[in-house]
Amino acid sequence: MKRKKMTKRKMQAYRKKLMAKRELIAGAIDRQLHAGKETQQDIPHDPADAASNSYIKELLYSQSTNDRYVLKLIDEALERMEDGTYGICVSCGNPIQEKRLQAVPWARHCIHCQELQERGLLPS
Ligand SMILES: [Zn+2]
Repeated sequence: MKRKKMTKRKMQAYRKKLMAKRELIAGAIDRQLHAGKETQQDIPHDPADAASNSYIKELLYSQSTNDRYVLKLIDEALERMEDGTYGICVSCGNPIQEKRLQAVPWARHCIHCQELQERGLLPS
């Protein structure tokens, strides 16, 4: 298969982006852990408080779940850089569109496969 190799300079730029985002997310997860602890220590006085409390907890939880997921994708992207497969769709092996990588540098799939995955047509 013909593969257009990504230039080193471009790869470095993506790596920088990934590392910056990684730091941002790791910091956010840290803060969420902290906030989660504080929420747990609060003893609610009335049921309305309890409800909003559990709502906040749930919100924090889903946020950190999403953050953890992106963190995992970033780590995988960095690993693919080591392997020299960064920027290649993990599903079809075609290069991922540059526009897509610029918006989502940790993308695993090309736009086509991403669409299939979102429709549940791609085994992940
Ligand atoms: Zn693909």
